[in-house]
Amino acid sequence: MAVSDHVDLATFMEGVKKRNPGQTEFIQAVHEVAQDIFEFMSDKVEYHEAQILRRIAEPDRVVSFRVCWEDDNHNIRVQRGWRVQNNNAIGPYKGGIRFHPSVTESVLKFLAFEQTFKNSLTGLPMGGGKGGANFNPRGKSDSEVMRFCQSFMSELYRHIGPNTDVPAGDIGVGGREIGYMFGQYKRLTNRWEGVLTGKGQEYGGSQMRPEATGYGAVYFLQNMLKHQGNDVEGQSAVISGSGNVATHAAEKITQLGGKVLTMSDSGGFIHDPDGIDQEKIDWVKHLKNVKRGRISEYADEFKGATYHEGERPWGVECDLALPCATQNELNEDEAKSLVSNGCKGVSEGANMPTTLEGVKVFHDAKILYGPGKAANAGGVAVSGLEMSQNSERISWNQERLGDMLTDLMEGIHEKCVEYGDDGDGYVDYVKGANIAGFKKVADAMLAFGVV
Ligand code: NDP
Repeated sequence: MAVSDHVDLATFMEGVKKRNPGQTEFIQAVHEVAQDIFEFMSDKVEYHEAQILRRIAEPDRVVSFRVCWEDDNHNIRVQRGWRVQNNNAIGPYKGGIRFHPSVTESVLKFLAFEQTFKNSLTGLPMGGGKGGANFNPRGKSDSEVMRFCQSFMSELYRHIGPNTDVPAGDIGVGGREIGYMFGQYKRLTNRWEGVLTGKGQEYGGSQMRPEATGYGAVYFLQNMLKHQGNDVEGQSAVISGSGNVATHAAEKITQLGGKVLTMSDSGGFIHDPDGIDQEKIDWVKHLKNVKRGRISEYADEFKGATYHEGERPWGVECDLALPCATQNELNEDEAKSLVSNGCKGVSEGANMPTTLEGVKVFHDAKILYGPGKAANAGGVAVSGLEMSQNSERISWNQERLGDMLTDLMEGIHEKCVEYGDDGDGYVDYVKGANIAGFKKVADAMLAFGVV
């Protein structure tokens, strides 16, 4: 059958929309990838015949379950939990768990789909998955979070395993939550095994894992800049978020001689024209991880800083931008504002933070744009290394893992350039990441036949 006999992009997307009604985030993510893959597949009949993209865009399974827990006032609360196992062609499902009120099946399906390509790009043997619940850890006591995590794991444990599916942290799931979930898994199964990553150092966690996503996003930016003969040193950076990814991205920018101007949370952003140096970053980490406070408190603590309630930081003049909070947090107008203010490069610590329209603005302006699936892959890459260390029952040191992370990010950058160079020197990193990530998964699926 000729390639031209197969469905075109528009027809393919119509089908995706029809099968996933109302799942806007998932449809957006599939559309973004499908645009590049259809172009790449235009002369590759075998992928069309085997319906590879159609199959990757249909999760292997979506498990949805009830999570009951009791709050400190003895009220019974009911949340909904999910695990989306998107594709395990090249390794066990792997991807984080998110606890946030905005979590829906659509959000987790988009994240699991993206994760499939991201994990493939790392070069490590990991499939794509994602999970979570519409639970808000904010304002909850440690005991409440513990009871929720235990209840969540009481169902999840039967669907995961070190060779089946290895979850990690994400928004709202940090060291505390991973500890509670790992403890419950161990209690239920009577097995100590590397079933979660992002664990504490005392019980099988990897050095460099907390830093890996934020540092990796900056290394990716550094590679993009280097490709153009440029560097991070002396550049100003606007960062959104104030969680794990944002604080470590800020740390690495500072270490490389850049100046961080902003951080944010869902309440608003702070702008510090003097720069957010290491001491201030440590203060933010303590505020978020220990005090569980709000970023607005930064402006009370540090003179010269201002807090902008209900706003996002993209209007602040900068050389570099790192969205590190959440999906769709940077829209078309904000992208235009970054470009007109002279921003030269964007590296996404978060997953899909820029809308499709925003991405188009960056591409049209031909500024450097590193999409999350490439730029933030350092986190899952070190998670992959945590799995290897757990299997071998050894721990590698910080220095060795730091070198491995730098090499992994350089390798991901190279793959993006290989498939994304448009011929006139501009690299479309979205296209590069999509094609490189797709090809490995697709070829593995071809080898398996129709399963
Ligand atoms: P954290 O929970 O540590 O921090 C999330 C940050 O984003 C907080 O500052 C939070 O503010 C803010 N935020 C969350 N939701 C919204 C919203 N709807 N609007 C504005 N701000 C919001 O999560 P991480 O730092 O781990 O994750 C951040 C992003 O990075 C996510 O997109 C995640 O998927 C992605 N990522 C994370 C990886 C990791 O290793 N942790 C790996 C790869 C990607 P508030 O406290 O007000 O909610």
